[in-house]
Amino acid sequence: MKLEKLVGERFKERPADCVIDSHAIMVKGGYIKYMANGIYSSYLPLRRIVRKIEQILREEMDKIDGQEVQFPVVMPASLWDESGRYDSIGDELLRFTDRNNAKMVLGMTHEEAAVHLVREYAQSYTKYPFMIYQIQTKFRDEARPRAGLIRVREFTMKDAYSFHTSQEDLEQYYEKCHAAYERIFERVGVPEVVSVKSDSGMMGGNISHEFMLLTPVGEDSIVLCDSCDYRANMEAAENISDIARDAESAALEKVYTPNVHTIEDVCNFFGDETKNSCKAVVYQQNVDDKYVVLFIRGDLEVNETKLVNFLGEQVHAAVITEECGLNAGYIGPVNLKVNGDAVVLYDKSLEGRNNLSCGANEAEHHYKGLDMERDVPNAEYHDFAKIQEGGICPKCGKKTVKISRGIEVGNIFQLGTKYTKSMNMTYVDANGESKTPIMGCYGIGVGRLAASVCEAHHDEYGPIWPKAIAPWQVHLCAVRVDDEEVRAYADKLYEDLQNAGIEVIYDDRSVRAGVMFADADLLGIPLRIIVSPKNMKQGVVEVASRDKTLKTQILLENVMEEIKQYL
Ligand SMILES: [Zn+2]
Repeated sequence: MKLEKLVGERFKERPADCVIDSHAIMVKGGYIKYMANGIYSSYLPLRRIVRKIEQILREEMDKIDGQEVQFPVVMPASLWDESGRYDSIGDELLRFTDRNNAKMVLGMTHEEAAVHLVREYAQSYTKYPFMIYQIQTKFRDEARPRAGLIRVREFTMKDAYSFHTSQEDLEQYYEKCHAAYERIFERVGVPEVVSVKSDSGMMGGNISHEFMLLTPVGEDSIVLCDSCDYRANMEAAENISDIARDAESAALEKVYTPNVHTIEDVCNFFGDETKNSCKAVVYQQNVDDKYVVLFIRGDLEVNETKLVNFLGEQVHAAVITEECGLNAGYIGPVNLKVNGDAVVLYDKSLEGRNNLSCGANEAEHHYKGLDMERDVPNAEYHDFAKIQEGGICPKCGKKTVKISRGIEVGNIFQLGTKYTKSMNMTYVDANGESKTPIMGCYGIGVGRLAASVCEAHHDEYGPIWPKAIAPWQVHLCAVRVDDEEVRAYADKLYEDLQNAGIEVIYDDRSVRAGVMFADADLLGIPLRIIVSPKNMKQGVVEVASRDKTLKTQILLENVMEEIKQYL
C-alpha cells in the first residue's frame, strides 16, 4: 500500500469533541469518520486492525469447539416476543415496522436468534454440548454514546452461545471460555485485562464475569483488593459494615429541628457523624409507581443495581407528593406512614445499630437515640450499599478495598434456562424425559477492543499498535524521493518486502521528513524503515520501532534478513 493513495485524512490538532485519547487518535489518524451520534465509518487502517482481531477471535473460538454461524441484523419482533424481551427491554432496542406493517427489531444481542437456530436440531441429549458464535453488526440505541468507539450505537461483536444438558457441563465450558478470553486479550496486546465478577443485569442468569481494561478513562467502577485477589464489579461487590452497636442505648427522643433537611444538616445539628444516622432514600417502581423506602447508614450510598435485583423491578427516584403521606426530609423508620402499598427495606449497615439520628415522619422533627433492635424490631436487613474506597474486602476481610476505573472489553454469562425455557426449547434425555437445555453466552466488542488497545498503548504522537493487530508491520519512509539512489533503493525494498509476505505501507511522497514522521506516528506501525540520501551514502537504512525500544542502522545488504528477524 502506498501512503499517498491511502483514503482518509490525518491531521495534527486534537479534535475539540474528543474526551479520551483513543477517540482523538482514531479521528486525527484517519481511522474513523463520524456520521451520526454513535455511528462511525471505518477507513482502511482500522479495517485491517479489526480483521486481525476478528481472526484471533475466530481461532480462539474454534479452539474451544465453536462453530461460526451468522444471525440476521434485522429480526421479527415475534421472536423477541417469545422471550418477553420485546416488551421488557427499553428504548435501546430499536423497533420499527417493515412495508407490510410487520414489527421488526434491529439486533442488539442474539440469544433469541441462537435458540431459534438450534431448537429443532438439538432435540436429543446426544447433540449436546455445542457452541455457536458469530461476528456480526449490532445496534443498541444508547442514550449517551461517547468516547469514539468505546460506546457506540452501531458496533460489531463476537457473540457466542453454548448449550448444555447440566449445570456442571456449563461450568466446565465457562472455565474453558474464560481461559480462551485470557488468551485473546494477551494475543491482541492487552494482557493486563482482568476479569471481575459482575452483576448480570438484564441478561439474566447467575454467574458472570466482565473483562476489564483498567484505565482512568473507563466508565465502569471496579472493586479490587490490595491484600488478596478479590475483584468485582461495583454492582456485585458486597458491602460489609464493621460498626458495632454502642454499649448503652439512649432513649428515643423527638427533637425539633427547624430547617434541617439533608442527612448532613441533621448530623451537623446533632453534632454527630453521618455514619451515626439512618437516612431514607425513596424510589418508585417503574412498573406501578409503588413507593420503595430504603433505610441505609447516613454515610453510604445506595447501589441501585442491588436494589433492582432484589425487587426484580426497575426503579426511578421518587416523586414525593402530598398524597403519598411521606414527609420529605423527615422520613424515618419509626412511625413511618405511606398511603397505599409500599416496600420498606433496610440496609445491612443498620443491623444492630443504636444511638442513631433519623427522621421522625413529622415536619421539622427528627429522632435521636434510634435503636434498630428496640425501635424497628421487625426489620429484615439486606445488602443495598455501594462499597467504598478503603472498605472491607468481602474475601479477606481487610480494609484494603480500592476502586478503579475500567473499560469492559468482554463478558461471559452463565445464562441458565432464561431463553430456552421462555422459547420452549427442549431435548429428550437418556431416560426419555423432556428437559430444558442450559445456556451460556460470551461477548467481545471488536471496535471497542481496538479502541481499548489504543487507549492502553499510545503516546502523545499516536497509537503504538501491538504487532499482532497492527494494520501493517513495516512503515517504509523514502525521504527525498527526488534523489535517484533513494528512489531506486526504496522502490526495490518495497517490492522485496511485499514479496516476502511482509505487510508494508510505503511513503514515497515529496513531503518534508517531519510530515512523513508525524503521519507514521499516527499510523503506529511497529517498525519504521527510513531511506534517505544521508543513509544511502553510509550504505545503511535507519530502522526504528514505534515503541522506541529499537533505533538502529542496518547495512543495506542485511536489511531483509534483519527485518524478518525483528518481526
Ligand atoms: Zn481482600
